[in-house]
Amino acid sequence: MAIQILPPQLANQIAAGEVVERPASVVKELVENSLDAGATRVDIEIDKGGSKLIRIRDNGKGIAKDELALALSRHATSKVHSLDDLEAILSFGFRGEALASISSVARLSLTSKPAEQSEAWQANAAGSQMDVKITPAAHPKGSTIDVVDLFFNTPARRRFLKSDKTEFTHIDEWLKRIAIARTDVHFTLTHNGKLVRQYRPANTEIQYKQRLGQICGRGFAEQALHLSCEHDGLTLSGYLQSPSDTHVTDSCYFYVNGRLVRDRLVNHAVKQAFGRFNIQHQPGYVLMLEIDPHQVDVNVHPAKHEVRFHQNRLVHDFILQALQSVLEQISELTIESEGH
Ligand code: ADP
Ligand code: MG
Repeated sequence: MAIQILPPQLANQIAAGEVVERPASVVKELVENSLDAGATRVDIEIDKGGSKLIRIRDNGKGIAKDELALALSRHATSKVHSLDDLEAILSFGFRGEALASISSVARLSLTSKPAEQSEAWQANAAGSQMDVKITPAAHPKGSTIDVVDLFFNTPARRRFLKSDKTEFTHIDEWLKRIAIARTDVHFTLTHNGKLVRQYRPANTEIQYKQRLGQICGRGFAEQALHLSCEHDGLTLSGYLQSPSDTHVTDSCYFYVNGRLVRDRLVNHAVKQAFGRFNIQHQPGYVLMLEIDPHQVDVNVHPAKHEVRFHQNRLVHDFILQALQSVLEQISELTIESEGH
């Protein structure tokens, strides 16, 4: 006879278990929020592998003063209003959980100024009821989220953190995955006051190759095969490691409508496409699939690493054909040059 509703902080801490595994997951959620807000520049500052400080500053559309408190509460999102919206989702976020979860397991402050507001305001949530305090602040158009002392109140989680170096490596990896898909955005990453990465916006093929080289290695970028295929409303574009490039790479990136996903389907298609080349290693790829959002379900897991295609077979065969057609072109070229 002791059923009780959990206090908000505790409910959020439980939810945090699913999305806030380590500093890198905080960085992922916050950077995705910045991108959802239309930012063209995102600066990430990390201290001590993210356990001391994670600061994300963007030039996105910002949050109005009277919505700051809402942004920090659970199940509050500007991105979905109905089940129909969810079924056609294109934004990264939709669960309205990240800020609430993170602020229940760290000291979070959110400072923001939308373009149409003359001053900036800062919000913090604290205590078991997660009461929000709003204070005046100084900030250009956009938002800054500070996450200080991650897991300070959840010691069991904190103990699971690895060394600063390892945690930072995870952050760096996550940023790579985001930066390779969003070449239009300028990203910087700083660790303990030192600028570690600078990804400048890529508007030309040369700049794009530069970013590809920064992330997948210069060799990969120089030799990679470009592909761009469209069929029946499906589009696949990106780069594929050349069969003549024998470097072992772990650059295997697959995006569905801009969202990085792990999917066996694409690995399978790549393997199958490379079947007739005698290659010992898993070929690298950066592939972007664009598909009608109604044809894919992204709400499979809280961290959104997985998607489900309604027509799995069709998507697989489309990818396979797209890959085969670029690979065919190059094998024709080799046969030609051998013939001459
Ligand atoms: P979700 O992204 O699933 O909507 P979040 O908890 O991550 O949930 O964010 C809650 C809301 O706060 C978002 O829907 C958005 O309206 C607002 N928000 C969060 N971060 C930003 C940001 N960097 N810029 C503008 N708005 C933001
Ligand atoms: Mg979000």
